[in-house]
Amino acid sequence: MGYISVRNAHKEFMKDGEPLTILEDINLDIEKGEFICLLGPSGSGKSTLLNAMAGFELVTSGSITIDGEEVKAPQLRYVTVFQNYGLLPWRTVESNIELGLESKKVPKEERPAIIDKYVKMVGLDHARNRYPAELSGGMQQRVSIARALLKDAPVLLCDEPTGALDRATGDEIIRLFMKLHEQGKTLIIVTHDETVAKHCERVIRITDGRIEQ
Ligand code: ADP
Ligand code: MG
Repeated sequence: MGYISVRNAHKEFMKDGEPLTILEDINLDIEKGEFICLLGPSGSGKSTLLNAMAGFELVTSGSITIDGEEVKAPQLRYVTVFQNYGLLPWRTVESNIELGLESKKVPKEERPAIIDKYVKMVGLDHARNRYPAELSGGMQQRVSIARALLKDAPVLLCDEPTGALDRATGDEIIRLFMKLHEQGKTLIIVTHDETVAKHCERVIRITDGRIEQ
């Protein structure tokens, strides 16, 4: 059994009073430290599967476990999901990153050192006092990544993290993921983009709610 293990997972949504199968008999084992790409076309069920692993959605039948523990609710201890941006426009880069610490209730005097570490990790030291409107899409994405990283969860789930970015900026984000992989994080990236998949360690293809074997 993998560090993350999906067993016979099945997901249905009701549509016009009829059950609609979105995920069909998904089986997956992911080891600690793997850098996985979940690749598939739009509507194939990628986000649904990722959200089920994060505990935001429950599977209709089957099970998902992380480190032997069944996922029944959001697993904040294990998992951080990257959001696309979600930055507050009235707060600077630093102050948007600080949001992640506020939600963890980190004492104020400990925050500057932590913010400093993550602002540098994502290469935004020079832009720390800028507002989101003064940043490119890639820079905004990096702020949201920094804010997620400082929660220091061992598993990172990312839904189309390069979806809104041009190629060069997307590559920059991928390089950041490769760095996190080297640091031992378990990364699962959802994408419909073959070019992103090329950089991952293992590609899992999903079509019409089924994993291609
Ligand atoms: P992907 O991320 O691969 O584009 P999704 O997992 O978002 O695919 O969606 C897969 C299918 O499930 C789509 O057909 C979508 O319309 C449907 N779906 C997703 N969420 C819901 C929901 N909450 N209720 C009903 N149908 C949904
Ligand atoms: Mg999606």
